[in-house]
Amino acid sequence: MSTDEHPTDADGAPLAPRTIECVDCGGVAHLLSRPDDTGRFWPGDLVSYRCEDCLDRWDLIVPEEGGDDAPAW
Ligand SMILES: [Zn+2]
Repeated sequence: MSTDEHPTDADGAPLAPRTIECVDCGGVAHLLSRPDDTGRFWPGDLVSYRCEDCLDRWDLIVPEEGGDDAPAW
């Protein structure tokens, strides 16, 4: 299978992990969004996750690359 499905930034850190931990219940939330035709996500992209336990949806903005914690806007 392809190993190319895990977008990372220049430092190798995932910009949009395939799964995240649900803030509400601690379950596993799965990535719903698909990267664009470059095969990766970009800072400022909206990515959506859905928790497999509580079915909550989480919409996150991909953070700026290289960066600090502070958002650019
Ligand atoms: Zn949950």
